[in-house]
Amino acid sequence: MQPLQIVPCRLLSWLHSGLKSPVSTRTRICPTMARPSSSMADFRKFFAKAKHIVVISGAGVSAESGVPTFRGAGGYWRTWQAQDLATPQAFARNPSLVWEFYHYRREVMLSKEPNPGHLAIAECEARLRGQGRRLVVITQNIDELHRKAGTKNLLEIHGSLFKTRCTSCGVVAENYKSPICPALLGKGCEEAGCEGLLRPHVVWFGENLDPAILEEVDRELTLCDLCLVVGTSSVVYPAAMFAPQVSARGVPVAEFNMETTPATNRFRFHFQGPCGTTLPEALAPHETENVS
Ligand SMILES: [Zn+2]
Repeated sequence: MQPLQIVPCRLLSWLHSGLKSPVSTRTRICPTMARPSSSMADFRKFFAKAKHIVVISGAGVSAESGVPTFRGAGGYWRTWQAQDLATPQAFARNPSLVWEFYHYRREVMLSKEPNPGHLAIAECEARLRGQGRRLVVITQNIDELHRKAGTKNLLEIHGSLFKTRCTSCGVVAENYKSPICPALLGKGCEEAGCEGLLRPHVVWFGENLDPAILEEVDRELTLCDLCLVVGTSSVVYPAAMFAPQVSARGVPVAEFNMETTPATNRFRFHFQGPCGTTLPEALAPHETENVS
């Protein structure tokens, strides 16, 4: 497997340096190695054999359910964007304002539902479990739509809109109260003897990921025999951090997103389009399943 991983990188570096390939016959022999395959039939062969699948999901999957990111053009809450308020400094300056922002984001989620991409992943996990196979989702999304779709093996590396953390004692609690703001008036943490101020249990700009979760992520990435990158391009975090680690072991990585990037060429498969369209096809049951 190793030589297959090296070829596309060499081709890329030749392109960047403007040099002609020194072994042009070799590139003609395996022209498909320069770019990933978009053959669903070939992907399905790997999928049929995989025992331990990791799905890395990003903002694109949530966007297909209409979840706003408050980033980029038009991505404002009042006059702010996420990077203005999702920081420890903003919370230290004005915790009420930051809580209002997160309160708004929680309320928005009441009207959002998992899309066919979320559902295909959750259904696949349940089906594979019955066959003694494993699927785990590693997500940067904080909206819990994977959970709502039924995903059980879930690593939320950026935390959740629906969890609070006490700034004093550190206790993390689920919180689905609506609205959350009046509940926070005059009281904070509900642990006995602790009246600490609660904050959203999410990872803010400039903050580190939870080392315990990163350890779990690392274990899954080390064990998996197939990796899907969905709703995020492979040059964008978190896939940029995790997928190359899997690919370097010779394990097939399949991207499902709206665009290609130069990094796409490091991976075995790329399926362009909405995850809500591509994933249900990719993860559908095989006719030969359930024979046991
Ligand atoms: Zn506390």
